[in-house]
Amino acid sequence: MKIPSNVARCVECDGPIKSVQREPYACNDCGRDYRHADGLIDHGTVLEIVGGWLLIVKDDGIERDSEEEIADLYGAFDLLAKVFGDGLAASHIGPSLTCGEANAIAEALVVGNQKDAAITFLEAHGKGDDIDEDEHGGDDFDGFEHLGLAVKAEPERLPLEVVTVDGLVELLGL
Ligand SMILES: [Zn+2]
Ligand SMILES: [Zn+2]
Repeated sequence: MKIPSNVARCVECDGPIKSVQREPYACNDCGRDYRHADGLIDHGTVLEIVGGWLLIVKDDGIERDSEEEIADLYGAFDLLAKVFGDGLAASHIGPSLTCGEANAIAEALVVGNQKDAAITFLEAHGKGDDIDEDEHGGDDFDGFEHLGLAVKAEPERLPLEVVTVDGLVELLGL
């Protein structure tokens, strides 16, 4: 893989800075320790480790949990659901994963409101499971139960209140 163009550079030799275990930042070429950042961060930029390299990326100022970010996340889950929730892809990928890996994907899909895809994926994975040894094997396996989707909703009883015409007018602010 190519070294990304926005990698942070060593002040000593201009080598690219990588993230290594124990020492988070070090020059790839001369090994210079970069823990003190050497004034790398300009206004409007943040440092981010991606693919093992220390990158200087634009600080887009989007706060976590902003409406925009939440919409982006749901959009991303929608894309993932199209992959993992597709019967053919699920039957290829599902059985090659361990039960723990399959759970991780299915549970993440549920959190991302892609329950249908989660069930499709887990069922496809379960077809490759050993009935006696694995978590999702056999006809008795209940994916809905397993993912906590089998909870029956208790219908809420609306309070019986006699609504008068005057009350309605007041309610509607007329
Ligand atoms: Zn260096
Ligand atoms: Zn399994």
